[in-house]
Amino acid sequence: MSSAPPQAAPPLRHETTAGNYFVANYPPFAFWKPEFIPQFEAALNRVPPTLNNPTSTPLGLYTHIPFCRKRCHFCYFKVYTDKDSSEVRGYLDALLKELTVYAGKPVIGGRKPKFVYFGGGTPSYLSPDQLKFLTDGMKRLLSWDEVEEVTFEAEPGTLTDHKLQAIRDLGVTRLSLGIEHFDDHILEINGRAHRSKEIARAYAFARDIGFPQINIDLIAGMVEETEDKWRETVAKAVALQPDSVTIYQMEVPYNTGIYQQMKAGGKLVAPVADWETKRAWVDYAYREFEKVGYTVTSGTTVVRDPAKVKFIYREGLFTGADILSIGVASFGHLSGVHYQNHHEFQPYVDAVNAGKLPVYRALIPSADERYIREFMLQLKLGSVSTEKFKAKFGSDPREHFAKPLATLKEWGFLTNGGDQIGITREGLLQIDRLLHEFFKPEHKTGRYA
Ligand code: SF4
Repeated sequence: MSSAPPQAAPPLRHETTAGNYFVANYPPFAFWKPEFIPQFEAALNRVPPTLNNPTSTPLGLYTHIPFCRKRCHFCYFKVYTDKDSSEVRGYLDALLKELTVYAGKPVIGGRKPKFVYFGGGTPSYLSPDQLKFLTDGMKRLLSWDEVEEVTFEAEPGTLTDHKLQAIRDLGVTRLSLGIEHFDDHILEINGRAHRSKEIARAYAFARDIGFPQINIDLIAGMVEETEDKWRETVAKAVALQPDSVTIYQMEVPYNTGIYQQMKAGGKLVAPVADWETKRAWVDYAYREFEKVGYTVTSGTTVVRDPAKVKFIYREGLFTGADILSIGVASFGHLSGVHYQNHHEFQPYVDAVNAGKLPVYRALIPSADERYIREFMLQLKLGSVSTEKFKAKFGSDPREHFAKPLATLKEWGFLTNGGDQIGITREGLLQIDRLLHEFFKPEHKTGRYA
């Protein structure tokens, strides 16, 4: 008896066109709505049932700092480059007021955060005094006694020795440097504010003062990237011996400067490398890091020593932890409810100052959607334990996802090893488009790269 030959995966969308490629959450943000806010508010006033359980849902804290020195041409975040110090101070006050409201809610139930994350924007845009004011206030409201990790995103050009020391002193354990590239021309043409000299200086001092973990971010496929320049950047990254490296493939969402230029010129294809080239570049970087002992730990990360280097924030996000998020446009998850704050600065600050929660939209995912969310997010790490899923959700993911798993197997991206549902390297490099196979039909948008 002969079996049918395996089917090839559908063709890749070759060029980079405008739109979001990466899957960051589920159900997609387009399904989060203002009309669900009352349900979110009701959830805040309930003690989560898991709090009576010794393995209660861990709590993490995310704080969004929306300021940057300059807007990068590929940036799709809500960032502000024109705020003066009184507006920054007003924003920090608003963050603390917002946290005050949450700290008193039954949903927090006296829990202390296990991890803290400062993202942006550019958290390192803040001065040492502003950072101390903010973090002292946060610690007064929710103790950091049990915090196991504090991550802090930094733009190299904002980091003086004095500021780096202040960041270390406030308890940061994981410094995440937004290097993106080491070539000054590439940095400039893509609108980055920093240059290679600032990278070298900041990295060396950060190492000297003993941050437990330093992660560096790179982007494969920036405007004017070439094979040679990418290889040089990878070599420089390897030479730094960071604890971990996060490598993104350049995407061009609609709200970027690059898309505005495309639109003005009537272009449908972004002036960056195609998806196959970007995957090949990330694969090259992975192989170079593997040669010196690093381990690939997801579709975007390599780690020097996985036994020592953990990323607790990501673990929490991917396994359904409660994440209390504060700040403009930030999104979080509390007691099974997704929520996102106002996108614009003034409505956010005004809502907080009026004593209201600055929430713009929310969603209560169904039990099935929570299952899909956790499975998909964990598949981004390269493999999922079926036993853990059975224990947590009471059903076997091999049965639950029989159809999409069969499709991935047909396409040659699945590795089946005992307890683990695994993804091949080739699959991992395009995992975000494959994840759409797990979406419920009503959530499929049909946009695959
Ligand atoms: S530094 Fe980051 S957040 Fe700021 S503009 Fe550039 S990409 Fe956006």
